[in-house]
Amino acid sequence: MGLNEIRERIAVAERAADRPAGAVQLIAVSKVQPLERVEAVLEAGHRVFGENRVQEAQGKWPDFKERFEGVELHLIGPLQTNKARAALELFDVIHSLDRPKLAATLARLAQETGTCPPLFIQVNTGEEAQKAGILPADLDGFVAEARAMDLPVQGLMCIPPVEEEPALHFALLAKMAARNGLAGLSMGMSSDFERAIALGATHVRVGSAIFGARDYS
Ligand SMILES: *Cc1c(COP(=O)(O)O)cnc(C)c1O
Repeated sequence: MGLNEIRERIAVAERAADRPAGAVQLIAVSKVQPLERVEAVLEAGHRVFGENRVQEAQGKWPDFKERFEGVELHLIGPLQTNKARAALELFDVIHSLDRPKLAATLARLAQETGTCPPLFIQVNTGEEAQKAGILPADLDGFVAEARAMDLPVQGLMCIPPVEEEPALHFALLAKMAARNGLAGLSMGMSSDFERAIALGATHVRVGSAIFGARDYS
């Protein structure tokens, strides 16, 4: 379990970037991991986790939430509108607001229930056809649209293309967030979270470096 090492590396990266200790929140991405690995990280005192599928999260987190106090769950994967209600019941933060239809659905549910978790807008910084997210050119309009619906947009999120230098994408995301007055930056994974912290990440999403490799077999 690499939790302590990752915490230490985050602290070093914060200092190197002249940022206050604790400026960066570590989201431990527990998708696909065996329950005992997740439990070990909970036992070590960590409480902030990320999952990318609603159904998978529904299978393990209600029980963990009952056994461990203060769990904060972040949805970091695509959200179908027909699962939005379930997502709002289980997740404390949603990082994957990626299209107008989902914004409209979340706004309707927020009106109905009187609450909405903090949201990050996912930006397709690499403009990849197969990837979800708002295109950079459409972002400012989409932020305005979401705000007009009273959605609590806290920041931006990106997943850089695998074959490109992620720092270029992190810098672009930071620029777009600043321009729109958004403080949150969800960026950086196991292989590049230190670069993301140098460029202003407020939330890093780290999976395999904490839990070990995911076994999809
Ligand atoms: C799986 C996943 C991560 C974590 O990836 P690692 O490389 O294991 O750190 C981060 N963000 C998103 C959106 C993911 O789906």
